[in-house]
Amino acid sequence: MDYYCSTKFTDLMISVQSRLLYNCCKAYPERLNVDWLEKNPGRLFHTDTMLEDRGLMLQNKSCVSCHHGCYKHEEQGVVSPRQQMANNQIKRSNDSITDPNAPLKDLTISLTTDCNMACVYCSPEWSTTWQREVDKDGPYVMEGHQIKNNNWNKLWRNLKQKSRGADTKFFKLILNEIKLAKELEIITLIGGEPLLNNQIEELLETAKGKRIKIVTGLGVNRQRLAKLLEKTKGLPILWKVSGESTGDFFEFIRYGLDWDDFKKKIEMINNANHDLEFQVTMSNLSAFDFHNFYKTFGDFPMNVLAVSGMPYLSPHVLDKDSKDRCFETLDKMGGKPKAIAKWLQAESSDIDRRNLGTYLKQLKYRRTVDLGIFPKSFLNWSGAERPN
Ligand code: SF4
Ligand code: SF4
Repeated sequence: MDYYCSTKFTDLMISVQSRLLYNCCKAYPERLNVDWLEKNPGRLFHTDTMLEDRGLMLQNKSCVSCHHGCYKHEEQGVVSPRQQMANNQIKRSNDSITDPNAPLKDLTISLTTDCNMACVYCSPEWSTTWQREVDKDGPYVMEGHQIKNNNWNKLWRNLKQKSRGADTKFFKLILNEIKLAKELEIITLIGGEPLLNNQIEELLETAKGKRIKIVTGLGVNRQRLAKLLEKTKGLPILWKVSGESTGDFFEFIRYGLDWDDFKKKIEMINNANHDLEFQVTMSNLSAFDFHNFYKTFGDFPMNVLAVSGMPYLSPHVLDKDSKDRCFETLDKMGGKPKAIAKWLQAESSDIDRRNLGTYLKQLKYRRTVDLGIFPKSFLNWSGAERPN
């Protein structure tokens, strides 16, 4: 295997709330020592762990963080994030970078996990709505995989937004790191739902002069969105809006948001003359309706990534009948859908099939959702319709 990946030398993601640094967003994180950063300004992208990992890559050796993000998937014959680079934003350079101290180019910041939605492929790690659901009904339990709250999630929710992330010493240090990172080109804000955060304006102010991307599920009311669009008029902002299906499928997958409301918000962003593209997270559940999403929004750019971290939602985990039908629909559309159709072709494992069924059953029990939108063959095959 070729262990080298240029993204390791350009990209960093920070979770302000948990003090975690991900180099890159798909890699296993390390927890930052805030006191160390205070004594070493400008070294956010050059911690000892990052320098060591890049050193290993340059010797064509594996490192733990990228084993988690990519190598282990490739060892299992499953498409890894870096292999999907052709249609997403990760790849920044065709050239090999050989300096472990290379400057940061692309910074992604998650301020908090506050989010009004509970998308099926997300988790309490990223959304407070997910955290509340798991608090109320207990963890989702599958074979070898649980969706549960950790103590940090609970503690976090009990703190007020102001004392949680954006007003902490760490947030101030990050603003300073942004000012010091002269070669930083792109800053991406993610959540939770970044539009819910009251400090987003301070961050946008500090980021002036850089290319700014806001990754959002649009889980905010239209008044709040309109206010932010007004404040950011003329700024070089790219809105990266998450979505992959329409109508009932949209409302099942992006739980907490109404499809018609979503379309109106897209219109608002478009009318404000900001750049807009879609962030598509392909799963087996979106395979049934992605063609309609593509017909609705195919004129906009789309970055497509397969679900990660929940193997039972991988695009290929489908019964034969559904797989054949989805493949045929996507394949004949050509372009991006045709490329995605290939992801459906891998063989599903038995454990992924069983876990899918268990997961769908638990979703049905906890949420006001209707599994009837999916074909019978899919529900029978996964066991979602069988009693326990
Ligand atoms: S996790 Fe994957 S994409 Fe990210 S730096 Fe490592 S090898 Fe590259
Ligand atoms: S909008 Fe984003 S953070 Fe919120 S639940 Fe969906 S994927 Fe997770």
